[in-house]
Amino acid sequence: MTDSPQPPPAVVHAVLFDLDGVLTPTAEVHMRAWAALFTDYLGRRGLTPDYTDDDYFAYVDGKPRYDGVRSLLASRGVTLPEGDPTDPPTAETVCGLGNRKNAEFATLLATEGVAAYPGSVALLDDLETRGIAMAVVSSSANARDVLAAAGLGDRFGVVVDGLVAREHAIAGKPAPDTYAYGAAQLGVPSRASVVVEDAVSGVQAGAAGDFALVVGVDRGAGADVLRSHGADVVVTDLAELVGVLGVSIARPARGSTDDGTDDRSGGAA
Ligand SMILES: [Mg+2]
Repeated sequence: MTDSPQPPPAVVHAVLFDLDGVLTPTAEVHMRAWAALFTDYLGRRGLTPDYTDDDYFAYVDGKPRYDGVRSLLASRGVTLPEGDPTDPPTAETVCGLGNRKNAEFATLLATEGVAAYPGSVALLDDLETRGIAMAVVSSSANARDVLAAAGLGDRFGVVVDGLVAREHAIAGKPAPDTYAYGAAQLGVPSRASVVVEDAVSGVQAGAAGDFALVVGVDRGAGADVLRSHGADVVVTDLAELVGVLGVSIARPARGSTDDGTDDRSGGAA
């Protein structure tokens, strides 16, 4: 706890969910697809250091696909031509490498399937019962496929994915724009919307906007890392938020360890 003055409680009318790593354990599938791409690519080029999961969290996690490719390559001092999204997976361009990763991800999804996190489904059920609006805001171009594979395809009227962002030229995470767009599509002000994210780039996106609360979900990035990049609250399972979101929430002061969810006096639409 701190003695810092608390801002007035925000009434929450919408919750904006990242997908991979928040609703479904697909961040891990993305991680493996990126590892397959970059282990091979860096190895063939003789580039060091070898690719590790730390690279995933530092340069790739949560970002639009081609931004992730560019960012990782830059960390090894490599700049490739941008190419075009229609490039084949064999092309040595930013888009070609990104498309290789996507093909690998699609293969893993098709062969292994995906089940939503039970705690996340419990929260979706809870929010639906209480009439809280919900959207998925994902950098992935595969978001609708993943939602369908996980049996969540009919849960969200608004899905802001990588394809929507590209179509409307909306800046990707860590910019707040895709989350703000999701809130707007639901007809809810950002100030009355909660962002739920597992990636550093995603909590940065939430913190850069005018949202009621940024919830970090620690699936490996680390609670302290998520807090230091803008998460107001960190949980390890969304079931911890059942009965909490959508009522009046006092946003905790930065640096406070109070989860700020005790004030349930407010109402929600
Ligand atoms: Mg994620």
